[in-house]
Amino acid sequence: MSNFIVEATTSKGYKINLNTGLFINNEFVAGANTIDTINPSTGELTAKVQAAEAKQVNDAVKAATDAFKNGWKQTKGSDRGALMYKLAELIDRDNEEISQIETLDNGKGITFSRFFDVKQLAVTLRYYAGWADKVHGKVIDTEGALSYTRHEPLGVCAAIIPWNFPLLMLGWKLGPALATGNTVVVKTSELTPLSALRVAALVKEAGFPPGVVNIITGYGNIAGDALSRHPDVAKVAFTGSTAVGRMVMKAAAESNLKKVTLELGGKSPNIIFNDANIDQAVKWAHKGIFFNHGQTCCAGSRVYVQEGIYEEFIEKFKAYTRLTKLGDPHEDDTYQGPQVSQVQFDRIMGYIEAGQKEGATLALGGKRWGSKGYFIEPTVFTDVKEDMTIMREEIFGPVVAVSKFVDVDDVVAKAHNTTYGLAAAVFTSDVARAIEVSNRLEAGTVWVNCYNELDYNTPFGGYHESGMGRENGVYALDNYTQIKTVKININRQA
Ligand code: NAD
Ligand code: MN
Repeated sequence: MSNFIVEATTSKGYKINLNTGLFINNEFVAGANTIDTINPSTGELTAKVQAAEAKQVNDAVKAATDAFKNGWKQTKGSDRGALMYKLAELIDRDNEEISQIETLDNGKGITFSRFFDVKQLAVTLRYYAGWADKVHGKVIDTEGALSYTRHEPLGVCAAIIPWNFPLLMLGWKLGPALATGNTVVVKTSELTPLSALRVAALVKEAGFPPGVVNIITGYGNIAGDALSRHPDVAKVAFTGSTAVGRMVMKAAAESNLKKVTLELGGKSPNIIFNDANIDQAVKWAHKGIFFNHGQTCCAGSRVYVQEGIYEEFIEKFKAYTRLTKLGDPHEDDTYQGPQVSQVQFDRIMGYIEAGQKEGATLALGGKRWGSKGYFIEPTVFTDVKEDMTIMREEIFGPVVAVSKFVDVDDVVAKAHNTTYGLAAAVFTSDVARAIEVSNRLEAGTVWVNCYNELDYNTPFGGYHESGMGRENGVYALDNYTQIKTVKININRQA
């Protein structure tokens, strides 16, 4: 077990000590090979992490299958809930260390790791712990028979999660799966495997039986693909790119028709009307795009501003964006750290180049920041046309496309000029207009006079190619249960 312990020290001297084996059956075990995890603030190696291939995926699925059959399935909801509450408590206890690991591996500001990612993981687990003994069937009145439904767990559920919110996504998957009595195999992103492994140690400490929660990493096209195709996996929950979402669904279709939920990309419109509170709209629009360095599936990456306030908005937005504190994510007041990887850095810089080539106005930023790591200045393009690449494609970085609109019909048409439909926002002081436009927008979440406000108890997911199914809230429980009808004859004659 000690074989895979790695040590690392943050830029502020915080010492991290972590087991980087594959977490299967409550033990840290060897993978088929190792993956280098890089510190995005420096571009240097943080650690080598054990990586799964098909054999280790099989081992993890076998562990989860055995755990499901040998007891977890019959565990009382209140007992499952108690374990989940315990895990949440341990995560809160170790918030600082987990946050340091998350910031080291992902590059997000330490204050966000502490008060958003790690905290929300605990909050989400607690919310679903409360549901664990409250998932019931119904009695349905049928003539001559007693009919009732049972909401039964599916079995082994796989979760394939991305690098932008490694722990939040862990919570969104583990919470509803465990509450409803399933066992789980999580595959973390090969770019950010560390924080979930720290949580894995707490899964064991909390007292979960071996095999109920397995956490492995590995390359997507190897370990992710093997999970998506595995005949003993009953369901796969995926968060990531639309391109890979399609592959996961195809692999599910080609294997055992496992159930699939997908939470994919977006190009979400943020609509600001003339009558909006402009100073508030500026701040929320900033959070809408620059939160998590633009690496947010629901990012408000297209900002549509009504003609009457277009110039004023841009001036205020630029002034406010200039205040964004970029730098070492281990500093308490850093808002924006590095992008997650060299690949993402290069992609984003490519989009910035395309924006300039295609004739958008580069109003702010556009350059690399510093001389090492993957930092990019907050970048604002204005006068962006509907057919430009930066208006059409998901950039997943700190780059926003701003343009002008005339009226409601004009902006709703522009908002829908995309294959995505994850989120949208409306800024106005007219309640009737807020409701009208919210109702018309084809998006899984519509924010009014705010942006990127996520709550564990409200459903989240996409219209169109932004995905299928909803996570969070009571809605997510349906993804993890199957319904059985039982009919007991009273006086029906054969
Ligand atoms: P990705 O979709 O490749 O990775 C997400 C997860 O899927 C990772 O765990 C990865 O290992 C796994 N994966 C990759 N290929 C797989 C396959 N064939 N079968 C099964 N699993 C597989 O995302 P990325 O390459 O890290 O980022 C690329 C782009 O995806 C980003 O620029 C962004 O546009 C988008 N993205 C969206 C989200 C989101 O929250 N919706 C998150 C991350 C990335
Ligand atoms: Mn990393």
